[in-house]
Amino acid sequence: MIYPIVKYGQEVLERPAAPVTQFDGSLKKLVADMFETMYAANGVGLAAPQIGISLKLCVIDVSCGKDPNAKLLLVNPEIIATEGQQVEEEGCLSLPDFRAKTPRPSRATVRAQDLSGTEFTLAGEGLLARAFCHEAEHLGGKLFISHLSRLKRDSIKRQVRRMVKAGEW
Ligand SMILES: [Zn+2]
Repeated sequence: MIYPIVKYGQEVLERPAAPVTQFDGSLKKLVADMFETMYAANGVGLAAPQIGISLKLCVIDVSCGKDPNAKLLLVNPEIIATEGQQVEEEGCLSLPDFRAKTPRPSRATVRAQDLSGTEFTLAGEGLLARAFCHEAEHLGGKLFISHLSRLKRDSIKRQVRRMVKAGEW
């Protein structure tokens, strides 16, 4: 099932999500739906609050569905180490059409659980490190625009407000 994606301005995007505690069939179904929703939206990552579900889990695929080994599920993820810095264009499915150069660590290690609750750690660099940080922040109620200058952030907020008024958001 493809969920509608919650856009910036909705409260669920700006509050910390609750930890996942039930590793059951409904979690499995939710994860399948999240992958389907992410691929339909051509995203490389999707966090549960972005479909209105305030739970700590996200899906990532920096290959956009081209490499089956790139499919990643992170349940209750936590960034445990970071290294270096990269500044690249970043976007978010909840802020469609807004992209901005955003500083991130060049390498990041995440600790998370899989579908059955088993813990693992995974290191990523480049776009994957960026995705780890971006999605983990979603689960803490934080969006990538928080890393931009106030000027840039206010400009995005203004444009969103204008679109909300025009019924285009
Ligand atoms: Zn996002």
